[in-house]
Amino acid sequence: MSDYNWCHGPNCHTQATQSRVRGSGENKVLRTIKIKQDSNYRSYDRYQMFNYFCGNNCLFDYIRTHLQSIVAIAPRREALETPIKVEKEKYESYRYDWGGNGATKRVPYMATRTTIKSVDND
Ligand SMILES: [Zn+2]
Repeated sequence: MSDYNWCHGPNCHTQATQSRVRGSGENKVLRTIKIKQDSNYRSYDRYQMFNYFCGNNCLFDYIRTHLQSIVAIAPRREALETPIKVEKEKYESYRYDWGGNGATKRVPYMATRTTIKSVDND
């Protein structure tokens, strides 16, 4: 098994950066970025997406190019639902009345706090 992937971005090899230049003399090219595997664990990349893409541009180029094929893998034909409880509670809050003359007044009022709670379904 190889220890690298080529970036899957369809336009990776067209971006003019020094890191993509290969070859010598008159035979230079821009080459797709090679991504080393397992040696570069990235904590921000829990799904290891950047084992396949050199960056967000290439990731989104790939998604734009292959979107219809990707959604065909696991199509969503109906809405999903998560049971919840919606709780409303009254609490005293304040608003500020500036009055236009520089004298700020703190005015109490009853506010409503809405909280969405999960429902244990087990
Ligand atoms: Zn790339």
